Amino acid sequence: MQPITNHLPTAELQALDAAHHIHPFTTQSELAGKGARVITGARGVMLRDSEGQEILDAMAGLWCVNIGYGRDELAEAAARQMRELPYYNTFFQTTHVPAIALSAKLAELAPGNLNHVFYAGSGSEANDTNLRMVRTYWAERGKPEKQVVISRWNAYHGSSVGSGSLGGMKGMHAQGGLPIPGIEHVDQPNWWAEGGDMSPEEFGLERARQLEAKIDEIGEDRVAAFIAEPVQGAGGVIVAPDSYWPEVMRICRERDILFIADEVICGFGRTGEWFGSQTLDLTPDIMTIAKGLSSGYQPIGASIVSDAVAEVIGNCEFNHGYTYSGHPVACAVALENLRILEEEKIVDRVREDTGPYLRQKFEALTDHPMVGEAKIVGMMGSLALTPDKSARAPFAADAGTVGFMTRERCFANNLIMRHVGDRMIISPPLVISKTEIDTLIDRAWRSLDEGMAAVKEAGLW
Ligand code: PMP
Repeated sequence: MQPITNHLPTAELQALDAAHHIHPFTTQSELAGKGARVITGARGVMLRDSEGQEILDAMAGLWCVNIGYGRDELAEAAARQMRELPYYNTFFQTTHVPAIALSAKLAELAPGNLNHVFYAGSGSEANDTNLRMVRTYWAERGKPEKQVVISRWNAYHGSSVGSGSLGGMKGMHAQGGLPIPGIEHVDQPNWWAEGGDMSPEEFGLERARQLEAKIDEIGEDRVAAFIAEPVQGAGGVIVAPDSYWPEVMRICRERDILFIADEVICGFGRTGEWFGSQTLDLTPDIMTIAKGLSSGYQPIGASIVSDAVAEVIGNCEFNHGYTYSGHPVACAVALENLRILEEEKIVDRVREDTGPYLRQKFEALTDHPMVGEAKIVGMMGSLALTPDKSARAPFAADAGTVGFMTRERCFANNLIMRHVGDRMIISPPLVISKTEIDTLIDRAWRSLDEGMAAVKEAGLW
């Protein structure tokens, strides 16, 4: 077989891809018909494909490339660490400097009393850790019946059996026997789609109090924890009304329930602070992190755990861990990524400069006839598409039809934007410049125009 490199024609690469590579969250047969776009390189916020097109990546990969593509320092950190100590574990009374240094750094950056780190290879694995950790915590405290974890419909917490069960994606639950027992879901605080005649504030309280009612229904003595993303990401960048989170925090404290903030997307500057919990004034007992921790340059996730939880877990043998927990190369790359985020003041820039600039431009997209609302926190935002803004009406077609049509126009206009149902979402690299923000907005407007024309032509409006 001839070597498979960037030099092969696109069609040949696509045919090989279709023949041997199963893509996540994809209908293989459909993709094989049209061929996957082959990404060959990237710099800053721009991707390059095998046809030489330059594409603005307004999703930072999968919400993860916070410092942008092409930073040599991270490649150097990986190479250095691979030469010195490419692998060792921390299971059997050993440790290594990259894990020590990264844990100390994360304890410094994380708010409050979150000072202890358990490593994983991904966000999914870290949430599996959390599920077992909170249950073990209560068992060790003499309350083994406190086992149920409450989550939210439409939440995303990962794709493994445990984390996929924690998540509230019904399409995922429909495959492979999810959810596992002991996980319950309450409704999400999505005012646009589900708020009816209530004001956002009334609706936020109503949704928070569903948690209280669920705890009371199950019995406080059976509930271990509540898990939630500070801003729901894969569910469509759903920003809760202001009344929601203070009420949720009150309920967790009064009912003696641990709170797990899933910061896999919100962490490391995405919301304009180091963690979404700081932006939204949350006090988690455990934070799930991944993605921006290494800006996606290495697969790594973790749970950052409070002093109180770590102390209890520390008194038993926690029979849990992954071969790649605290992988030295991933830790070294994450440390270098954090150094860059800090020294280049990237998080401050998102909060004070480029974030507000993006907000102003992004919110102006509500002038487009098909955009009902624009929600944005730091550098994660979403647009609700609608044929009737004042009624917050959905389209007559199945949810996602119009979103997909619009996303296809974005793709054709060299802009990576995702759709979740009929919400269009962005999460660009945090290093995006104002000029690049202008390009993003121009391409988004053009794609909305073309999307709207296609929707009308298809008779869906
Ligand atoms: N939690 C959240 C909030 C996520 O957005 C994701 C991934 N999109 C995960 C967990 C799972 O992370 P991973 O894909 O690294 O397993």
